[in-house]
Amino acid sequence: MSPFDCRAKAQELSDIVVKDTARKYYRIPRGGRWYGGIATADCCGCNLRCVFCWSNKPRDNPEKVGEFYTPEKVFNEITHCAQTHNYHLLRISGNEPTIAKKHLLKVLSLVEKTKYLFILETNGTLLDEEFVVNLSKFRNLHVRVSLKGTNPEEFAMLTGAFPETFDMILDHVKLLVDYRIRFNLAVMLSFSPDKHTVMLKELLKKISPTIIENFEEEYVFLYPHVVKRLKKAHVEPLTAYTPGGIPKKLI
Ligand code: SF4
Repeated sequence: MSPFDCRAKAQELSDIVVKDTARKYYRIPRGGRWYGGIATADCCGCNLRCVFCWSNKPRDNPEKVGEFYTPEKVFNEITHCAQTHNYHLLRISGNEPTIAKKHLLKVLSLVEKTKYLFILETNGTLLDEEFVVNLSKFRNLHVRVSLKGTNPEEFAMLTGAFPETFDMILDHVKLLVDYRIRFNLAVMLSFSPDKHTVMLKELLKKISPTIIENFEEEYVFLYPHVVKRLKKAHVEPLTAYTPGGIPKKLI
């Protein structure tokens, strides 16, 4: 696969998974143990092609799966799930939530009137300044940026996107700092030697020491379809966990 522009990819995808303020979802709602309990809506379509991704058809063929949901319907489904299970957290996951910005902002404005906290899980590629300014208006929001690898070369190898995307994501992280948005950085370390992690941490310290305080390690979970993807890409993780052996601190 030749390297691609993930912003152009997001634009192409939005023609498939976004219709005005509605967004395509393939599973909604889903309860789960992550973050100590969270209600989730799983959306279709991502602008990266990670070799360890656990999303199959909804990522690779979003035109063939899912249904469109309005922000109101998504909000009702996940808050109902949260009420039923006594969760305090909500999220849109499964693929990349920021591809449908209008939709996401409307969901956030509905969550803002509740006691719930919304975890925005994102690959960080689409957090431009205009969008970050919009996000900075919400109190019930925590942004979790998941960075794939510790440097531009690893990022390109893992995601298929241009290596310079890595630095663009770090610029976006700086915007989150500048606009005082509650966030943390998670980094996929399964494919990185320790010395690369050390170098990344040095770089992050220069952006803001608080990034290191809330630094989250991410590792590959070896679900059967993830193993298949890794084999196809001829990429082997240095550290990974079987689904039954995931350490508690990673849940
Ligand atoms: S960013 Fe997440 S959803 Fe997108 S390809 Fe990578 S792992 Fe899959």
